[in-house]
Amino acid sequence: MNDKIGATAGDPATSTAPDAALAAAAAAGPACGARLRALLRHSARGLLRHLLPSACALCGGDSDDALCAGCAAQFFGPAAAIARCPRCANPLPGQASGAVEATAGAPQGRPGAPGRTAMAGQLCGVCLTAPPAFDRTLAAADYALPVDQLVLQLKFGHRLALAPLCARLLRDAVLAEGNVALPALLCPVPLGPRRLAGRGYNQALEIARPLARGLGIALAPRLLQRVRETAAQSSVAPERRQQNIAGAFAVPDAALVAGRHIGVVDDVMTSGRTLNEVAATLKRHGAARVSNFVFARTPPH
Ligand SMILES: [Zn+2]
Ligand SMILES: [Zn+2]
Repeated sequence: MNDKIGATAGDPATSTAPDAALAAAAAAGPACGARLRALLRHSARGLLRHLLPSACALCGGDSDDALCAGCAAQFFGPAAAIARCPRCANPLPGQASGAVEATAGAPQGRPGAPGRTAMAGQLCGVCLTAPPAFDRTLAAADYALPVDQLVLQLKFGHRLALAPLCARLLRDAVLAEGNVALPALLCPVPLGPRRLAGRGYNQALEIARPLARGLGIALAPRLLQRVRETAAQSSVAPERRQQNIAGAFAVPDAALVAGRHIGVVDDVMTSGRTLNEVAATLKRHGAARVSNFVFARTPPH
């Protein structure tokens, strides 16, 4: 893969401070070294405030991180963990967000481990009766208030800075599982050219880049191609969604896929039909295993 995995933000420490102030401090002689250092520190802090969000994306409270510690714990910490079907990531019967108590001694910063292992390996009824084409689905959270705001801001509010946050939360959820076979390659669900042109970016790719880096997996941004435009699944009646997405994807380079475990990244998994079509396409091209990595999973109604 020669695709660049993620962009590197500029190092604020190496950025130029206001020239006039620095020149004045330097001209005052060596005794002003402390003042020069203070100026540089001040400039770096000012620049950091511009580069980093200063408000939590969920509650709007002061936060140096994109998510404040309170929201991170409430919506992505062990208290929010639920047992999910390993294949489709839907909550298992009797599970609801916050229903599973954290176990004492659970590793800090590894959200979800206690709840997610409560019924480890148990498939939901849907996956037992009609197994999907994919083998595994990992999700960071349910697609529900207020977590859906992160996706909506990323997708429709052009807040691209939220993609690394979604990727980090998803990586934490993957690591918390502890028994996840990682794929050889990650690829995003592609947007059609018209939708890509309209939005200017593919949010799935924006999440896949930092996720690939965080998990140490190679990224193949163009492994999948959308060969025809489809209406947004959300705009199509449920009974027409399968027809809407059928035959929408292609794999230009089957050698990348044959015999390998492929990871597919998307922002939200709703009915799962799109990801099922993607997995079926990958398997037709010889993929040995397909795992979905989705930031949020819409729970069944
Ligand atoms: Zn918050
Ligand atoms: Zn399932």
